[in-house]
Amino acid sequence: MSPLLEVEHLRVQLPVGGELRSVIRDVDLTLEPGEVLAMVGESGSGKSMTARAIMGLLPPGAEVGGRIAFDGADLSAASSRQLRELRLRRIGMIFQDPRAAINPVHRIGDFLTEVLVRELGVPRSDAMKRAEGVLQEVRIRDPEHCLHQYPHELSGGMLQRVMIAAVLLSEPDLILADEPTTALDVTTQAEVIALLSDLRRARELAMVFITHDLELAAAISDRIAVMYAGSVVETVAAAEALTRPLHPYTEALLESRPDIAVRLDVIPQISGRPIAAYEVDAGCPFHPRCRYAEEQCSLTPPKTALVGTGLVMCHRAQERLGGLHISGEQNSLADGLGAQAG
Ligand code: SF4
Repeated sequence: MSPLLEVEHLRVQLPVGGELRSVIRDVDLTLEPGEVLAMVGESGSGKSMTARAIMGLLPPGAEVGGRIAFDGADLSAASSRQLRELRLRRIGMIFQDPRAAINPVHRIGDFLTEVLVRELGVPRSDAMKRAEGVLQEVRIRDPEHCLHQYPHELSGGMLQRVMIAAVLLSEPDLILADEPTTALDVTTQAEVIALLSDLRRARELAMVFITHDLELAAAISDRIAVMYAGSVVETVAAAEALTRPLHPYTEALLESRPDIAVRLDVIPQISGRPIAAYEVDAGCPFHPRCRYAEEQCSLTPPKTALVGTGLVMCHRAQERLGGLHISGEQNSLADGLGAQAG
């Protein structure tokens, strides 16, 4: 089976203050039909920008290099009309804040049917029936009533279900979900995640799920791509990211998770500050924060290589996989915190 989505050597630069600044550096990704890939990383690591590059929704003046292929077609060479057609019919995107993506003065029914009626020529009565059907599918209790409501009458969770329904209406093969639960409370978050999981199985959807939460990523995805400073530093099966992370950044993210069963005076955090893609100089982008860094890490950029079952961008990944003694592993995260405080 050939991949549904292939991203090769993706590079994106954005104009800032009269100069071009790098935001994505050499990203490679693949996604099979029906597969869920989670992209994880801190704010500014390049997750959302990668999704926007796939959708052809980058800001004006953006410079893009590399290749993005969807179902065998090279999107890098596609016209804006072809990209729009693709967004209408085959690739959908769910954004973080549904209230920012929906017109507050339109009824839900008008919002849901607008594209079907205007762009795809579906008769309005048929479009309303389809809209009611997808509202039922996303578990809105009274879909017929919901069609006549305004966005301000719905909770954040219900509005996000409406946004998911809007994406489903075009019957896409691929959904890009950009932190779709971040603006929701914990209970609603769990409901929306369960809904997305059920929908992707029932409709055999492929999904790129963007989040900063590694545990959430593992719960919903088949594979996880961890991003740092505009690059993917580790791509691995979801279960392995939680149990045997090979990149020190993935490991540090795991250690920074608050645990309800453990009482701590200081919440663990990764020492130092995350850097932007345009700040990367020679060597490994993570080296100023890495407890395993050695001399070559600040001099030579690590290459991505197959290590075990995953792809890892770290000079010492093979060594870590082998379970060899690494002196840095004896340092605790508290050492990192102490260094930061000092
Ligand atoms: Fe740490 Fe070196 Fe690996 Fe970078 S290459 S993550 S600095 S050990």
